[in-house]
Amino acid sequence: MSEYSTELWERAQTVIPGGVNSPVRAFGGVGRKEPLFFTHGEGPYLFDINGKQYVDFVCSWGPLILGHAHPRVIEAVSKAVGLGLSFGAPTLQEVEMAELITKLMPSIEQVRLVSSGTEASQTAIRLARGATKRNKILKFEGCYHGHVDSLLVKAGSGQLTFGLPDSPGVPAMLSAETLVIPFNDLEKLETVFKADGEQLAAVIVEPIVGNMNCVLPLPDFLPRLRALTEQYGVVLIFDEVITGFRVALGGAQSLYQITPDLTCLGKIIGGGLPLAAFGGKRKLMSQLAPIGPVYQAGTLSGNPVAVAAGLATLKGVMKLDFHDHLSLLTHTFTEGFKELAARFSIPLHITEKGGLFGFLFTEQESITCYEDVAKSNLPAFRYFFNEMLKEGVYFAPSMYEAAFMSDAHASVLDFTLNKVEKIFRTWKA
Ligand SMILES: *Cc1c(COP(=O)(O)O)cnc(C)c1O
Repeated sequence: MSEYSTELWERAQTVIPGGVNSPVRAFGGVGRKEPLFFTHGEGPYLFDINGKQYVDFVCSWGPLILGHAHPRVIEAVSKAVGLGLSFGAPTLQEVEMAELITKLMPSIEQVRLVSSGTEASQTAIRLARGATKRNKILKFEGCYHGHVDSLLVKAGSGQLTFGLPDSPGVPAMLSAETLVIPFNDLEKLETVFKADGEQLAAVIVEPIVGNMNCVLPLPDFLPRLRALTEQYGVVLIFDEVITGFRVALGGAQSLYQITPDLTCLGKIIGGGLPLAAFGGKRKLMSQLAPIGPVYQAGTLSGNPVAVAAGLATLKGVMKLDFHDHLSLLTHTFTEGFKELAARFSIPLHITEKGGLFGFLFTEQESITCYEDVAKSNLPAFRYFFNEMLKEGVYFAPSMYEAAFMSDAHASVLDFTLNKVEKIFRTWKA
């Protein structure tokens, strides 16, 4: 690190708690004092404050599926900026956005735009509780749904990286209403429903978990979850803030052919600006104010600049064969990564779906839940992360995060694999 960023890091820590505005940005989990400060991005690259270039597999944690500063997104945003930053009133563009979302995800009959994924899942839970007049919710260990009080229980990457217990400041009364079981655990699922099915307002789940590395659902898991929630009148909420438009155009629900009652969206639909959404069955959504009793609001909800970025990004991913191409990029990279690991006898487990993938240094053949992820070799991850960073490749600074591919990455996969080879050749973990 240069003296300049060290000095900046000192300044940051003086006036910002921990020096960062979101915990996952800190590099403590990979044994480094200071994070990188970035100045700009272009396509698959990020540039730090010292001018060093990195291939970026974080992509702002998911939104930048077209790469950094995509010309059509920047153009749409610039145009919107010129027309004014916020009206706090309806616009044509937000209607277009809602029409587009309901078209791409048929389970969503009505949708409301909000400004963060946290807000989306918070309101989805409130709506489910309001509609069912029940209080309990069920979530899965290692799934993250934003920092909603009642959902900050065994909540994935950020908390896992820093070994934080379920957060202080959340009244025990609230977390007591949240039941947690391991992802993919059908036996526990049956037990919970038998005992508490009648009291459950909602089950919230990342259908593909992107907040404890990358964990796929076992074939029976989501169908059984759908059947049980239907049987007990429980609202099934798919949190597709990461997976929406990333694993497939219609999200994970289209891949597994499950119709949830509510869906949370974020990240890609804002294309890098603060925009998220939740939506689902008309019957549920019509419980929301102003036509129903469940309250929800937002000064900047449906902000015209954010909607412009989101629309331009969605139009990009709607191009013919976009997801086939993106999946191919991911697959090309993961196959190369696996071959190198085999050649150098380094135990590696890779999961992928569309533009999302995860890698763990472990001998385990299947990774199905948080416990499996946690058993992986953390020192090996740290070593790999730091060596790659030196070589100019930026992965998320935590073993519990997924990696994100953009369609701008085609030109950097060989470069990245060459760096992997170099590191595996002199592997010291
Ligand atoms: C990022 C994320 C959220 C929270 O979104 P924010 O915009 O950070 O509040 C919710 N759910 C999932 C699955 C996420 O990955």
